[in-house]
Amino acid sequence: MEKFHHLYGPVPSRRLGRSLGIDLVPHKICTYDCIYCQIGKTSQRTLDRREYVPVKEILEEAERFLKEETFSIDYLSLSGSGEPTLHSKIRSIIEGLKRITSIPIAVITNGSLLSMEEVRKDLIDADVVLPSLDAVSSEVFRKINRPDEGFSAERMVEGLIQFRKIYKGQIWLEILFCRGVNDSQSELTLMKEAINRIQPDKIHLNTVVRPPSEKWVLPLDEIEMERIRDVFGEKAEIISEFDRHPPPILERDIKEEILEILKRRPLSRSDLSKGMGIPQNELDKYLPPLIEEGKIQARIFGESVYYEIGENRRE
Ligand code: SF4
Repeated sequence: MEKFHHLYGPVPSRRLGRSLGIDLVPHKICTYDCIYCQIGKTSQRTLDRREYVPVKEILEEAERFLKEETFSIDYLSLSGSGEPTLHSKIRSIIEGLKRITSIPIAVITNGSLLSMEEVRKDLIDADVVLPSLDAVSSEVFRKINRPDEGFSAERMVEGLIQFRKIYKGQIWLEILFCRGVNDSQSELTLMKEAINRIQPDKIHLNTVVRPPSEKWVLPLDEIEMERIRDVFGEKAEIISEFDRHPPPILERDIKEEILEILKRRPLSRSDLSKGMGIPQNELDKYLPPLIEEGKIQARIFGESVYYEIGENRRE
């Protein structure tokens, strides 16, 4: 079977159920270079919008996937290896996808380019837009998101406010917290004020759950996240296991990833699936060979089977 170059998953996530990711820009072109980014440092930080991947290729792959694969999918999510709104034809992609499927379309974006009227219009037909807002003060915004030169926090917040005025779909705002960076009381107060003006439908609170771009970045613990949830009120929920940019399965060394994760602790197949953002049936291609090679072993505990590093691989 011919491979898919711009699709990954479906990936299970708490926010979007089973979502098929569609990658609109090459790794890793973004308007930001976030300190917590789990897909590495930004290789090209830019505000230039281009047709990074031909629209035709994306639509052909999506159509082929939906015909060939039997996965049930809750959302098609435009995100991936960088900032999807940098794709200058994102509107044509959304329109084209709507012609071939009734599966709802989500756009996972850092929200920066919503400061441009043309981008706000481009996303108008998406069913859900999931922008991020990690800081409001200029100092913290520069520290956590490291935006392209000449881009400001005010511009980003104003873009979100303007988008809300014209967009009839759902806006689920995500805030990712890094310890000691954007979790101060003063920043939370500014965020709350901005959110009152943006009026999202939901507020999703996240923290660092995968190795960040900068090694010094640390997550908040559960108690701190709950305290923050209380600050934001009833629209807010903690969604810490969500991956903003789950990497394409095709580009990953899944066997090595499994070994790395299991070095830390034994996990069930479902834990591995959630943690790695890979469907359980996809994991079945990798677990039996690793057992045969003696690199991992299965152990029954309670009612579950756990996988752990094989005796001969322990350090
Ligand atoms: S987390 Fe998203 S917005 Fe931030 S640098 Fe990575 S790809 Fe860009």
